[in-house]
Amino acid sequence: MKAIHLLAVAASTGNLSNPRGGVTLEILDDLAAALARIFHLSCHVSDDPLPASFALDSARGQYLSTSILQRMESLSPDPEVALLGVTSLDLYVPILTFVFGEAQLNGRCALVSSCRLQEEFYGLPPNSLLHQNRLKKEAIHELGHTLGLKHCFDWRCVMASSHSVERIDLKEGEFCPACLDKLGLSPPDSSDAWPAQADHTTSGGPRSRSLKA
Ligand SMILES: [Zn+2]
Ligand SMILES: [Zn+2]
Repeated sequence: MKAIHLLAVAASTGNLSNPRGGVTLEILDDLAAALARIFHLSCHVSDDPLPASFALDSARGQYLSTSILQRMESLSPDPEVALLGVTSLDLYVPILTFVFGEAQLNGRCALVSSCRLQEEFYGLPPNSLLHQNRLKKEAIHELGHTLGLKHCFDWRCVMASSHSVERIDLKEGEFCPACLDKLGLSPPDSSDAWPAQADHTTSGGPRSRSLKA
């Protein structure tokens, strides 16, 4: 793999005021920077959202992630470029109530949903920093599958399987040494680490702000 392309997946492209279905360019840029740091690859953000109305199961009110991945694959002719879809739509596969994301094992396409990563989904106040950290972990996890990694038994590893946000919060946003080794990757530069999740500000502003107030 030589590069990762990120694109928003939206219900339709008809809504000009919200063309990416709630996935802002800021979210995609932030994710691209995190992925570049972890995978040591160049990451590009696509301007064009992918409309996913074809994948809607109207009875469930959810979108079939496998269908979206297949459509993404047809958009990505270069076998050396991985494609990461980011959506705020609620995703499912037939055997599960929902999925946070899905990826093609040893393939090129991965998909993550922010829908159930948001505190608002559980009736809690918004927390944009927590949401972004969860999204990064899930994006790294799904891209790890495209590179051939299966689930890791180290619960701190980003490749640990997680069926709840609590489990996502427990794991770190990086590969464990064994998974890094399988990928042939070096650890990311620790001087550029993510902000700690213990900081529960919703603005994403400087951490010193509350100390000065
Ligand atoms: Zn997984
Ligand atoms: Zn691992």
